[in-house]
Amino acid sequence: MTTPHDATSTTRQAQDRVLASLPLETGQDFEDARRGFIDTVPDATVLGARGTPVWTLQPYGFLDEDCPPTVNPSLWRQARLNAIHGLFEVTSGIYQVRNFDISNITFIEGETGYLVVDPLTSAEPAAAALALMRKHRGDKPVTGVIYTHSHVDHYGGILGVASEADIAAGLPILAPEGFLEEAVSENVLAGNAMSRRATYMYGSLLPRGPRGHVDSGLGKAVSQGQVGLVPPTKTISTTGTRLTIDGIEIEFQVTPGTEAPAEMNFYFPQFKALCMAENCSCHMHNLYTPRGAQVRDAKAWSHYIHEAMEMFGGQTEVLFASHHWPRWGPDRAEAFLRKQRDLYKYIHDQTLRLANHGLTPKEIAETLEMPPSLAEEWYTRGYYGTLSHNTKAVYQRYLGWFDGNPANLNPHPPVEAGQRYVELAGGPEALLAAGQKAYEAGDYRWTAELVNHLVFAQPDNEAARSLQAAALEQLGYQAESGPWRDFYLTGAQELRTPRPKSATPRQAAAGQLRALPGDKLLDSLSVRLNGEKAGNLTLALNLTFTDTDERFLVAVENAVLNHWSDRRDPTGAEVRLSRATLIQLVLGETDTAKAEAEGQLEGGAHLARLLSALDRFDFWFEIVSP
Ligand SMILES: [Zn+2]
Repeated sequence: MTTPHDATSTTRQAQDRVLASLPLETGQDFEDARRGFIDTVPDATVLGARGTPVWTLQPYGFLDEDCPPTVNPSLWRQARLNAIHGLFEVTSGIYQVRNFDISNITFIEGETGYLVVDPLTSAEPAAAALALMRKHRGDKPVTGVIYTHSHVDHYGGILGVASEADIAAGLPILAPEGFLEEAVSENVLAGNAMSRRATYMYGSLLPRGPRGHVDSGLGKAVSQGQVGLVPPTKTISTTGTRLTIDGIEIEFQVTPGTEAPAEMNFYFPQFKALCMAENCSCHMHNLYTPRGAQVRDAKAWSHYIHEAMEMFGGQTEVLFASHHWPRWGPDRAEAFLRKQRDLYKYIHDQTLRLANHGLTPKEIAETLEMPPSLAEEWYTRGYYGTLSHNTKAVYQRYLGWFDGNPANLNPHPPVEAGQRYVELAGGPEALLAAGQKAYEAGDYRWTAELVNHLVFAQPDNEAARSLQAAALEQLGYQAESGPWRDFYLTGAQELRTPRPKSATPRQAAAGQLRALPGDKLLDSLSVRLNGEKAGNLTLALNLTFTDTDERFLVAVENAVLNHWSDRRDPTGAEVRLSRATLIQLVLGETDTAKAEAEGQLEGGAHLARLLSALDRFDFWFEIVSP
């Protein structure tokens, strides 16, 4: 077991080069991030039901010091900005609580109460933010809620600002069309893999500190309180829709297929204030998120930012968003929108230009640079997305994973390739020596590529793991992107110390499944069906979910699970159970005999045949070794 190393001289030189190449520090971002400050709570600490913090910036006190050589100086700056927390006046009548979570919560003062935009990831920070608002602006009710989009950091904390009674009484909850479907389904089918990879992307297993997690770029981290999902009472499907809630006029712009599959911007004419949801933020966002997800459409994203300029530009006195700090004045708002629009269009167009010249993804990522006018802005820098992986996202969207070179069409997988590379190098010691030489020369990318072959050929080779960890660590120290840093440092940590043996986190298991409608729940079973075990299995189940009274025909043949709602097979077996019981059975929390004995299940023997062919997923699968 080795603890993190210090920055090498190569890394120190790299940080110096970054420092020399950064945009001019005018102090404007820090001024904007602090403007209108009213109050906060110490370290933004929010306690959960058990009295332990579900959110705190206390471990980030080290950011008060000068940037150490183990952190990219540009990321350090963003990490400081993302540590400025509290309640802020955006304009008279609009207030934000920032850095009580990874996202912002916004309060608009209406005639009788507060309209809430984006109630954070979990209930406790949302409630703490509302309490701070009430303390300074009056103890008024919440009169409406808007979810800007379908990502959990924008709706999960709803029960911190609205009670079950408020919701039952018809509290208006607005969201873009497709919200609920996307909120429950975007991350389900690949959920286990995505959640495990997210532990790398957000550095959730890393210590906080100059050699660990410093920031996610988009915000500090994700809060750890109670996550809820309350469906909207009204969805917005048409751009130009105008509504008035508690005297607050709102004009909507629907932006599907941008930063999220269901998203919308909106404008408050009385306040001359524009909310750009997560379509604009103070950095380059992800066209591809490294935890893994379908790539986003840079062209549509850019198009909708332009449409927002056409609809609301000129008149906008203040622009705010779901992450980071606002921008004041029509000129600054307009300039920001223009460059955010062109940031994504530039990446889109230039990637395809180079692809049409025959360049492959790795070559495009290595070649492309920002034009000077975009590079001079802090808010185009890759604190979350990077120019490198975003160009690959555009390539993937249009041309897929294959670069066209047949040598890359069907290469050996990592272990087999690793064994052959080790042999080619003249054995493990020779490969290790070459890796060490590259490390000493400061070529950490090459060290990582080379030594990865040895780790996959010989996962117990401690010298290889240690050198690989050292190389990844220096790459992490140099990274400007929070997610890149966290990926590298988490990889280093898992190479050095055995992976955690803790239980599967709740998000990865039952929580998400419970929110699914019947057809989506059955979809999630389809991807658990083990093709080999299912072999010659043929099965027809007439399934009734007793809790929702939904009926499905579930059929297995050709090692595929198909399902259709409101269909029956007269020769099929009848199976009756609740969705919750099915989830427990799939996750192994009960078995068919027990569920039948408890009266939770009918037709257990037939269902058991299906269950025996379903896989359970191990959350802690290996990433940096086989
Ligand atoms: Zn977000």
